[in-house]
Amino acid sequence: MSMEDLYHDIILDHYKSPRNRAPELEGSQVHVHHSNPLCGDELDLRLRVSDDTVDAVAFDGEGCSISMASASAMSQAVAGRELGDAEDLAEAFRLMMHGEGVKREDDLLDGIAFQGVAKFPVRVKCALLGWMALRDAIESYRSGEEARRVTYDDGDEPA
Ligand code: ZN
Repeated sequence: MSMEDLYHDIILDHYKSPRNRAPELEGSQVHVHHSNPLCGDELDLRLRVSDDTVDAVAFDGEGCSISMASASAMSQAVAGRELGDAEDLAEAFRLMMHGEGVKREDDLLDGIAFQGVAKFPVRVKCALLGWMALRDAIESYRSGEEARRVTYDDGDEPA
């Protein structure tokens, strides 16, 4: 089996059997909604923080297989990580999706399977949606906001 086939299977598995997909998350302090109008992806992400650590992440939404599978893989990769470390991992994923090298390969877990998506610029925002929502949720948590809604505009780097 080639790496590409393996990665494809991993993505498909997350799409068919999403991890941490739920409409609510008990005790979550932050809820962000991100959308990617380019593809029509809609994502809700809830974050529960304890001791400055990602205690739990739950996502829900509707979108293409890449966006939903990537959010699922993200939820596993960041669980139990200190907030700054989770942000650093999100940045490693972002750089990978922009073809700027693969850092923290082991820590990205199944997130690594999305590196081939970097070859398809129109799908990059789909793969980034969950990770950028996480980054935003951490920022919201730190600033004391409870909810935030972000829509990516064409050409904007998700922030
Ligand atoms: Zn999409």
